[in-house]
Amino acid sequence: MTAGGDDRPGGRAGAGVAVRGERLLADIARLAAIGGRPDGGVDRVAGSPADLAARDWLGARIAGAGCLTWRDTTGNVFGRVPGGTGPWLLAGSHTDTVPGGGRLDGAYGVLAALEVLRTLRENDHPAARALEIVSFWDEEGASPTSDGGLVGSTAFCAGDHIADIAAFLEPHIEQGPRMEQAGIDLAVVDGIVGIDRHTVVLTGETNHAGTTPMARRADAARAAARVLVAVRDIAAATDPGMAANVGCVDVLPGAPNVVPGEARLVVEFRAATRAALDLAAARLAGHAEAVARDELCAATVTPLSRKPESRFDPGLRGLLGKACRGLGVPVTSMVSFAGHDAGVLSGHVPTAMLFVPSTGGISHAPAEHTPDRQLVLGCQALLDTVVAWWHGGDARLVTSDLSRGEQS
Ligand SMILES: [Zn+2]
Repeated sequence: MTAGGDDRPGGRAGAGVAVRGERLLADIARLAAIGGRPDGGVDRVAGSPADLAARDWLGARIAGAGCLTWRDTTGNVFGRVPGGTGPWLLAGSHTDTVPGGGRLDGAYGVLAALEVLRTLRENDHPAARALEIVSFWDEEGASPTSDGGLVGSTAFCAGDHIADIAAFLEPHIEQGPRMEQAGIDLAVVDGIVGIDRHTVVLTGETNHAGTTPMARRADAARAAARVLVAVRDIAAATDPGMAANVGCVDVLPGAPNVVPGEARLVVEFRAATRAALDLAAARLAGHAEAVARDELCAATVTPLSRKPESRFDPGLRGLLGKACRGLGVPVTSMVSFAGHDAGVLSGHVPTAMLFVPSTGGISHAPAEHTPDRQLVLGCQALLDTVVAWWHGGDARLVTSDLSRGEQS
């Protein structure tokens, strides 16, 4: 290993192995053409003919690089060099998209992992034998028949092969504007926010919209509106990094000449910590009750769903940070506000993610874009991290042998 802090030319790895940026970019363009739209977007919803064609293409690309490829019963596509030895460092993402999605969400992580695998193989680097790459099935959950997304990674973690996996790395686009705004090339992801949803029901009294005195109305819609407006303030007061949304509003009975007797909101909070999510829920309930009293209504707030937050592995995050520094990129860490396969894997094996910026913060849209330089830089950081992990593997084996010896 080379010492840190030396002035290596951009794109050169600490291991002295450089990815081929033009080959990575050409593959991104080729994959984008499968299900490609005239507006530059991609239609590759899981299970669609384009999605299946993309999986065939990926398998052929892996085989063309002299590697083994296979598919499990779920539809996840894998690749590794012949004669490799586990336990494996798994790297990748997904190749399905939302309808009218972009060319990079998921695809970048898969193709960056492929580029790392074939570069290591071409250079006869022994780390190649410990690397496995993956494109998970149906991450987006965009088809009407989908199980809600993260399907391939969830099935993978419930299967046998997860026992052979030592760690997981997922490179991905940020899908938000923070990195571009701050001028950040690469970011190490600390974890994925937890997502709590609550149903708020305001119950008033259905009555004639003309004859009921204004001061005596129990107007559930008005009460719901006051709660809706307060949701952002509750989030901001709880955690400045919290995201909040009210995406569903129902008013009953829903007639212009009837004072609404019931109104329902679905409130969603996203935050990095359970404590913040719990505090926001308590504040929402307290505020809804106060508003309801004031509006002659009753309020109930009930949890609708809870997706736990994920914390990524400190050791892997450290290796990613070191790789960034080795490429002359200052280490920035951030939380992901979108869900990823890495969130599923993190419940089973040490996991981490690396972000590259999204131009204009646009994602899940045809205009999804990341400058080529940063795409290549992220791929190089992945290679350097894989190599560093492989070096550390020898030490880990020795350590576990020793601890076994002490116990017996
Ligand atoms: Zn994705």
